[in-house]
Amino acid sequence: MMPAPAAVSPLQHDRFMTRSRRLAANLRDLRNAASQLPDAVVLIDQQQQIRWFNHAAESLLGLRRPQDRGVLLQQRMADSELAGWLRDGALEPLNDATAPGQADSQLNVSMLPFGDHEQLLLARDISHLNRLEQIRRDFVANVSHELRTPLTVIHGYLELIDPEDVPELAPVLGEMRAQSKRMGQIVEDLLTLSRLETQHQIADERVPMASLLATVRKEADALSQGRHRILLESSAEADLLGSPKDLHSALSNLVSNAVRYTPAGGTITIRWQREPGGAVYSVSDTGFGIPATHLARLTERFYRISSSRSRDSGGTGLGLSIVKHVLNLHQAQLQIESAPGVGSTFACHFGHARLLTPGGSDDG
Ligand code: ADP
Repeated sequence: MMPAPAAVSPLQHDRFMTRSRRLAANLRDLRNAASQLPDAVVLIDQQQQIRWFNHAAESLLGLRRPQDRGVLLQQRMADSELAGWLRDGALEPLNDATAPGQADSQLNVSMLPFGDHEQLLLARDISHLNRLEQIRRDFVANVSHELRTPLTVIHGYLELIDPEDVPELAPVLGEMRAQSKRMGQIVEDLLTLSRLETQHQIADERVPMASLLATVRKEADALSQGRHRILLESSAEADLLGSPKDLHSALSNLVSNAVRYTPAGGTITIRWQREPGGAVYSVSDTGFGIPATHLARLTERFYRISSSRSRDSGGTGLGLSIVKHVLNLHQAQLQIESAPGVGSTFACHFGHARLLTPGGSDDG
């Protein structure tokens, strides 16, 4: 026979009731708080069905109460940018997706494991941030554009003055010319960056690597003026698919940096080689090198390890930002290895999809 359940005293019963009321109240508060969050929250069960969602999920994701409860999330999002991401398992956060419930809003969406087998979809409205970012970009582009004409005029007049006519001003004139040229270069680099930032796609043209490498090498020779040993090792037998102008600018930027940050007598090696998954363009130098703490920030605009060294060498502080943007547009990655006093290697890794057989008419 089963033992009779122990009798519950009235006091125990009261305590039990108080505790469960408190728990229920806590749960209600939590739900209320979650339902008021500005971010969309959707709870999905093991079968990928929608179990619960908050108010923001209605406006941002277009979910409807009560009819969307129990519906498959993937099915419900089938017509949106989230469809492919959900189908592929939603492993990485999805950035800048158009909000399914609000076409003029952009979302950052992520999926978190929750409980034993459930998942939580979180979507944050980033339209406001995007708008601020756009204002910043427009401001920089407009300022640069406005500065271009006056600078060209000043530079033009400075070029017209012959130092021999005003010998006492010759050193000043030289400095003024150098500085106005530098300002012009900064403006041009800022305009290039603005263009690259607003571009989402690039022209898919064949970029013949043999001639591009030869050009880059010639530029290195001109900049070095015999102060460095410059080597070119090209074994990839591959052309690139992308924007010839932008790739030239990126690849030559790395060579120019190598020359400018390597003392006379150093060696600079330009390589273009196959590697598993694609091909790599790299520039190695035996120069000053870069302390590890700076590596992560090098591609930020105007980030310099030593501004005097950068300025003296004619740098604008924008070169590596441009390189990074160009590589992003070509789905390529920049990898930097460096040791202070030993040298640096800047490598650009291009995937198979960006490679072409030289001289051929194929696209693979
Ligand atoms: P800059 O115009 O100042 O050269 P970049 O964006 O091209 O600007 O480079 C950013 C900074 O990274 C430079 O100021 C320099 O300190 C460092 N750097 C870039 N390339 C090298 C290199 N090959 N060797 C050592 N330092 C480098």
